[in-house]
Amino acid sequence: MRYAETGFNLEVDLSRGNIERVETDPKDTELYLGGLGTNAKILWDRVPPEVEPFSPANLLIFSAGLLCGTPATGCNRTIVSTISPQTRLMAFSMMGGFWAPELKYAGYDKVVLRGQSPDLVYLWINNDKVEIRDASHLRGRGAVETAELIRQELKEPRAQVAAIGLAGENRVYFASVEQGRSSASRGGIGAVMGDKGVKAIAVRGTKDINVARPAEFMALCNEVLKYIKFRNENPIPGVMPILAGLGSPQEMKVHDEKWHTENFMWGNSRVRRKDFWNDEGARQCAQTLDTMRTRLISCYNCPMTCGATISPPGLPTYMMKCFSKLTYTMAAFSDLQFGLGIAQSATEYGVDGFSAPQVMAFALELYENGILTADDSPGMPSDNEGRFYWLLERIVRREGIGDVLANGTYWAAKQIGKGAEAYAHNNIKKHEQLPLKLSMLNPIYFLMYATGEKINITQIEGQFPQAPFPMKEEREAFVKDWIQVPDEKFKRYFLDWEPRGEKSMPFYPTVEMCCDIVDWQEKMHYIDDALGMCAGLSSFPLKPPYHIHNYPKFISAGAGIDMDEDKLTQAVKRYRTLVRANNTRRGMRRKDEKPPEDHWKKRFPELEKELLDTYYKFKGWNNQGVPTKESLHELGLDYVFEDFEKRGTYSDNGDTPSKENSAEKEKDV
Ligand code: SF4
Repeated sequence: MRYAETGFNLEVDLSRGNIERVETDPKDTELYLGGLGTNAKILWDRVPPEVEPFSPANLLIFSAGLLCGTPATGCNRTIVSTISPQTRLMAFSMMGGFWAPELKYAGYDKVVLRGQSPDLVYLWINNDKVEIRDASHLRGRGAVETAELIRQELKEPRAQVAAIGLAGENRVYFASVEQGRSSASRGGIGAVMGDKGVKAIAVRGTKDINVARPAEFMALCNEVLKYIKFRNENPIPGVMPILAGLGSPQEMKVHDEKWHTENFMWGNSRVRRKDFWNDEGARQCAQTLDTMRTRLISCYNCPMTCGATISPPGLPTYMMKCFSKLTYTMAAFSDLQFGLGIAQSATEYGVDGFSAPQVMAFALELYENGILTADDSPGMPSDNEGRFYWLLERIVRREGIGDVLANGTYWAAKQIGKGAEAYAHNNIKKHEQLPLKLSMLNPIYFLMYATGEKINITQIEGQFPQAPFPMKEEREAFVKDWIQVPDEKFKRYFLDWEPRGEKSMPFYPTVEMCCDIVDWQEKMHYIDDALGMCAGLSSFPLKPPYHIHNYPKFISAGAGIDMDEDKLTQAVKRYRTLVRANNTRRGMRRKDEKPPEDHWKKRFPELEKELLDTYYKFKGWNNQGVPTKESLHELGLDYVFEDFEKRGTYSDNGDTPSKENSAEKEKDV
């Protein structure tokens, strides 16, 4: 019997209209866990680097995490993996909400889409009955609207529907997949779904999931719930509200946005407004939120209520969570009323709430600097807010200048030329990052930012505090009940970390300490992404309920896999390396692991080089960031080494421009 997982994937060939229920190999679960881990293995096996993102041979995998569907609190993530049109690397975007558990209850761990449907279709998975259905009547419909129309059509109000909007249909590089309470937004996976001709996947499941040792598993779940209650009642003192609790409920609950609005960048990620948060601004913001926020909501099996339903006057209700509350407001130098209003359209069109506002602000900055002119934008309104709405419409329809901007700032700048590339300054690995520019280089976040392959906000934050606490007593109090540390040495690292002087940034934590800290933080992210756990209860906040000491117990009691901390660490290392191998094979090298020039005001090139050199070695990668023969062998990934050898990977420093050329070619078509 299989535990926690169903042991079956749905393989759908959209070109032929063929659907298969395929049994998976339990050995793969032991080696790569599930979710991201097994997704990385499937992409490695079946999508060689010659496959373009918009090609029938690219796969789009919707995977429930290994523990989704069990009673583990907050374990509800769908991990969507494909080759991204934006980065041309492996994308793995997470979606909360209810979809993944529903898929498990229908009897499947993953839906693997291949091929391309000649007509727009949607998939209806109803336990054992799976159909490809016509979606021509849904063409152009909003993502949230589509979900509702499908539920009505199927007469199944409990179906969970993941859908794309117009942006996905038109292959906008930052198109999202929306799912009622959440979205998978990064990497342009919505564009790949649109390219495959799939408007939505609706799921309804009523089967059971087996748990290996139920009593033990329930006891672990109850411990987690107890700890969540404790943490909710005892926020961490001395840190800003967003870091004091679990999940990200602060965003939709609180009114105080001083920290975000004054520390994050406005416009095209260039301007910080240090005195923005005054009494009048705070009053207006509170009033807007109180009027438009109709309900606080949670994902499946979670008490945290991180999201909220937003009902802007005269517009349909939609769901919002976290920092997307402010991204449109800040990109347009406007107010929250505008931000929550335009986000309704953006959600229906299905675009990433980080990239879309940055792309629009980028376009306006190009206008202001004469790189784009009135000839590029016939009919564009003169007011700022009107311009944002106008640009959004053009982007999702790929009309005029919108067709260029729909490829994101990196590709758009290349295509526009005339110096536009200097304004696409917030990218890493060709993808827009969080609009955050800081002053002093933080060596931990330099490494997280540079070497991360998920390219979202949660990958650059973790369980180690982002800054030292000013007073020794505060630090001592913090480490007292820090049960999550994998090793006591982390307490020492933190205790000695001072805001000023010898033991302050950028030279403290030392390079070696940074490697330990980053490795720990990254490991937790990768575990979450294989198990389907929300980062908000594990890898993202300080002192979370899930950590390296209780995760092996959850896997053992839940999935029946004999697991301890060492084995788990080794499994994570294996599929983390496989993610890198997929990207290495697609040309990713050291030159791509470079945060934007102005991400920190004070840079230290020699230290940054040393950090990268040392971290690469620490991870078993060569000086181009390519996993070495020895490290691959140790992880049982000799097949990766053989492939690298065949392709001459070790002698290629990434200067071959093949990937970029093919992208250019594709855009010219
Ligand atoms: S912590 Fe928040 S985002 Fe995470 S599962 Fe719970 S409600 Fe969803």
